Amino acid sequence: AKSEGRGRFRFFSEEMNHKILHRVALENALRQGLERGEFFLHYQPQWDLRTNKMVGAEVLLRWQSADFGLMLPSDFISLTEDSGLILGIGEWVLRSACLQARLWAEQGHPEFRVAVNVSGKQLKQQDFVAMLNQVIWETGVDPKSLELEFTESVIMENADRTIETLEALKNMGVQLSIDDFGTGYSSLNYLKHFPVDRIKIDRSFVADVSRSNDDAAIVEAIITMAQSLSLKVLAEGVENSDQLHHLSELGCDEVQGFYLAKPMPADALEGSLGREHGR
Ligand code: C2E
Ligand code: CA
Ligand code: CA
Ligand code: CA
Repeated sequence: AKSEGRGRFRFFSEEMNHKILHRVALENALRQGLERGEFFLHYQPQWDLRTNKMVGAEVLLRWQSADFGLMLPSDFISLTEDSGLILGIGEWVLRSACLQARLWAEQGHPEFRVAVNVSGKQLKQQDFVAMLNQVIWETGVDPKSLELEFTESVIMENADRTIETLEALKNMGVQLSIDDFGTGYSSLNYLKHFPVDRIKIDRSFVADVSRSNDDAAIVEAIITMAQSLSLKVLAEGVENSDQLHHLSELGCDEVQGFYLAKPMPADALEGSLGREHGR
């Protein structure tokens, strides 16, 4: 029994070792990823439901790692947050997205919006506002074509300081949205203290909007209250025509999801900027 126990222990510790080694290797690879130019961006279109026109795109980070192959954010974002690497990578994402938005503006789409995910670690960074100011200045982007997405939980944590930072960002002219809305504990009533332009209804509510009365009622309540606060509502994760039609009937302003388009490289999206979707 004793040796069995030791065997189990050794097995367990080897597995732990393996996990730790993997984590260290991943972190080193991430550290080099920026210099090696391994990161790139995909853009997922967002449509206005009144005009059916493509009005913006969410920026989604991708990593083609020499050591690990193609990696999605779920494989590496939390590690970049724990290690602090998110600061450099996040700045690279912002700069690249702003350059792209400026290019699209020059190509005749000044109203087109580019939405960047910002993690809590970045928002808490002392000089986030100054850094963004610098990026906007250097890239020449019109700040109103840049949108920053913060999750509901990031916004709610340390609310007083967050409000100040969001106000500084708002004063720069950028748009602000609350991501994954409905998954946290905030009430819309409380959100009126935050200077945001748009809320993104989490895809878990969208998934059953045409099948479950409860989810439809939640979505409808969010839309009604958001509109009374003059906030735009975007529903994410739209995967079929039923969902699209229900959201449209409920008065949702904008949609995003695989049914209309998957995330794609900037040049793949270029021909459809400002155009109507074919659904
Ligand atoms: P998110 O902000 O909620 O982004 C939407 C995610 O849902 C994306 O996954 C997108 O590909 C996926 N999605 C879009 N439409 C549909 C749909 O119809 N059905 C389903 N099932 N999924 C859909 P992705 O690209 O893997 O990103 C995952 C998360 O990683 C994002 O969730 C965001 O929290 C984070 N992330 C992505 N890029 C960045 C970044 O540049 N910085 C930071 N801090 N986080 C990022
Ligand atoms: Ca997002
Ligand atoms: Ca989301
Ligand atoms: Ca999410």
